[in-house]
Amino acid sequence: MPKVYLLLGGNLGNRTLYLQQARESINHRVGIIAQSSKVYETAAWGKTDQPTFLNQVLEVETILSPEEALQSINAIEQELGRVRLEHWGARVIDIDILFYDDLVQQTQRLTIPHPQLHLRRFTLMPLTEIAPNLVHPVLGKSTTVLLENCPDELEVKVYEKAAE
Ligand code: AMP
Repeated sequence: MPKVYLLLGGNLGNRTLYLQQARESINHRVGIIAQSSKVYETAAWGKTDQPTFLNQVLEVETILSPEEALQSINAIEQELGRVRLEHWGARVIDIDILFYDDLVQQTQRLTIPHPQLHLRRFTLMPLTEIAPNLVHPVLGKSTTVLLENCPDELEVKVYEKAAE
């Protein structure tokens, strides 16, 4: 079964609860969650005057095509009440497709691997935790090497807080 890696992120409201609801919906609508990283906390990327983000990466076994998976995650984002206020602005939940097996695809709607994944520590830290040997099909480097080479200096740490 194809494996899709998803990045979850959110910085509004009860962030832990939104992540949990997103995982439940992903289980129902995308496929079985085979692995999930710890939750990480990151300063907002691109815009610094907003709350910190929580991020998590999931490995999901799916029978959906990449386009179907995108449709499902868009529906989940809408269900969870995402309000897009501005580019890089605050949001309840954002879900990105990082990898879909070793597929390389670039269409207007969907770029896989995600074009920014190797540039963002908040993506590479949780990804490396659950898939340290996964090789990026375009860059030809493992997630571990990509993290070592990542120029992003924003602090990313494991989120310890149990309740908000
Ligand atoms: P954003 O929520 O700002 O990350 O943008 C969402 C839109 O980006 C989606 O509606 C997709 O059409 C497009 N997109 C392109 N590549 C990807 C990807 N790998 N994962 C998720 N969305 C993508």
